[in-house]
Amino acid sequence: MNSVNSTAMPDFYAVIGNPIAHSKSPLIHNTFAQTLGENLVYERVLAPLGEFAATVDKLRAERGLRGLNITVPFKIDAYNYATSLTQRARDAGAINCLKFTASGDALGDNFDGIGLLRDVVVNENTALQGKRILILGAGGATRGLLSPFLAEKPASITVANRTLEKAQALARDWAAQGEVIACGYEALSSQTFDVILHATSATLSAQTLPINASLFAHCALAIDLTYGKGLTPFLALAKAAGVPRFNDGVGMLGEQAADAFEWWRGVRPPTAEVIKLLTVPLV
Ligand code: NDP
Repeated sequence: MNSVNSTAMPDFYAVIGNPIAHSKSPLIHNTFAQTLGENLVYERVLAPLGEFAATVDKLRAERGLRGLNITVPFKIDAYNYATSLTQRARDAGAINCLKFTASGDALGDNFDGIGLLRDVVVNENTALQGKRILILGAGGATRGLLSPFLAEKPASITVANRTLEKAQALARDWAAQGEVIACGYEALSSQTFDVILHATSATLSAQTLPINASLFAHCALAIDLTYGKGLTPFLALAKAAGVPRFNDGVGMLGEQAADAFEWWRGVRPPTAEVIKLLTVPLV
């Protein structure tokens, strides 16, 4: 832990996106910094579309930017900007975090998958070995989940998606890491799963998925990656089906932030307080 020295300039970190006003990352990281006595400031940065690299270059040159979280729509721009990537970032094809070194390197990582994994295994106390997992959606978030979740040795991960070809491409690309099964929603009607993760953006556009409560008959844990929306249609179905544990993506958000903070600062912050701060009742 670094003690706060009031004469030292705080290190500068930020989250970049477009839009960005909604981002909870400053609240999370400033809370972490306060808890641990780390001397840093963390701000929101709105980058014009198509100007990710120019915006980041400027922040590095003018303000000594030390690290950056990346949100929609810049996760692939950030991937291309990085001078070095972790294997899980390469697998995901997108990153949500950059660390800038004194020698001028831009290291890229993706903590979304391990953030959700920690939420499932630690916060929700749910082991995945031998389990049947269903992921609804085949977008960027799912790409980030597959490698960390397959590393837990589940029996299988089924990826159901509106556009079947995207799920099939993921099943092909991850075949060497474990059993990934692609399907459309209609193929789910006679199946059940131990853990169900909702990773589509349907809730954000007030749309619902073509699934029903029978899907949750043997489900021990259901998580909607969307956060701050209360009892979403997905969570309402899980609740109605009697799923013992269900939650939104607030735990994932807090845990991936803690992973980023630890990578930047060398100390892992406790997450319970920020998760509580950001929790919206699931009613
Ligand atoms: P993408 O835009 O990459 O992918 C969107 C996915 O949603 C695609 O699979 C798309 O299907 C599907 N989809 C969109 N609308 C519908 C619909 N009406 N019916 C069925 N499927 C639909 O998004 P991301 O993967 O980046 O994000 C997914 C979700 O995860 C978002 O809600 C996001 O907020 C959340 N998230 C949460 C995080 C957290 O920390 N809690 C971190 C990252 C993401 P198709 O391929 O057919 O278009």
